[in-house]
Amino acid sequence: MKLNVVIPCYNEDEVLHETNRQLTELVDSMIDDNLLTECDILYVDDGSDDKTWDVIEELQTTSPYVHGLKLAHNVGHQNALWAGLEQSVGKCDAVVSIDADLQHDIHRIPDMVLSYQAGYEVVYGIRNSRATDSKFKKRTALSFYKLMQKIGVDLIPNHADFRLLGKNALQALSEFPERNLFLRGMVRLLGFKETYVYFDCNERYAGKSKYSSRKMFAFALDGITSFSVWPLRIIYLIGLVCLGVSIAEMIYILVAYFQGRTIQGWASLLFSVWFLGGLLLFSVGVVGEYIGKIYKEVKRRPRYIIEKQI
Ligand code: UDP
Ligand code: MG
Repeated sequence: MKLNVVIPCYNEDEVLHETNRQLTELVDSMIDDNLLTECDILYVDDGSDDKTWDVIEELQTTSPYVHGLKLAHNVGHQNALWAGLEQSVGKCDAVVSIDADLQHDIHRIPDMVLSYQAGYEVVYGIRNSRATDSKFKKRTALSFYKLMQKIGVDLIPNHADFRLLGKNALQALSEFPERNLFLRGMVRLLGFKETYVYFDCNERYAGKSKYSSRKMFAFALDGITSFSVWPLRIIYLIGLVCLGVSIAEMIYILVAYFQGRTIQGWASLLFSVWFLGGLLLFSVGVVGEYIGKIYKEVKRRPRYIIEKQI
């Protein structure tokens, strides 16, 4: 069988030589073991500012498996990964996606391939622990998974984008038309036969995380708003409660008015002005978030633009 490995890279020139060395070694051994007959390692340069593309070009001339895709500008991890996956549709039996920084244990790939050969179309790589994460990341990630579960989004805790997709799953995924990508949620919707592989997450081999807190937050928000209308419903409920309270208040005001005691109430008045003002702005913001999504979807702009391919 033929395997594709897709690796999105954003400013990863420090790690790519080592990543490619280890991957090449692994693929060689998998071919020796007759697990594979062919393999393409596809590096997707997500509009890096450093020497990432030069390194990919260099690797391509020296290594038998390497291919490269250079995106014209930075479109983010999910879109870059999508670009690589789309390139692989119809060209392989299965595709594995991994990060460039060697945090995903590539030595679990043979087990993923074995699972595929045993009939599984989707194999998730799941982290054993979050020991290599900062406290902040660990905590935010866990609360994110909990929140997603509560609002009914089906995610696998501690699974990021280290996974194998068989060709049928890949084909089905590539037909999803949406622009707001949240791949780990989308794959869950496919419904193919799936299984898991556990791995120990390593430290990043070199360089810094390319997911800033800002990107992380935006990604989490994307996950929620692309998969759930729960925030809208909450606002609707809060609105209902407010309406109930205001009706009660209206009755109270009328009674007070007719009893001739209407001077007091400055504090409660000011409070309701601020509270309702805040609530309204917040609600408009949430609705705006969804409208923004719709706006992005209807424009149907390309998810990425390819500059070069080797
Ligand atoms: N990445 C990307 N585009 C971006 C940000 C990240 O292609 O805008 C890639 C990055 O090169 C890496 C993977 O996504 O291969 C995961 O990023 P990183 O390791 O920095 O995230 P972390 O592991 O810290 O969550
Ligand atoms: Mg990483």
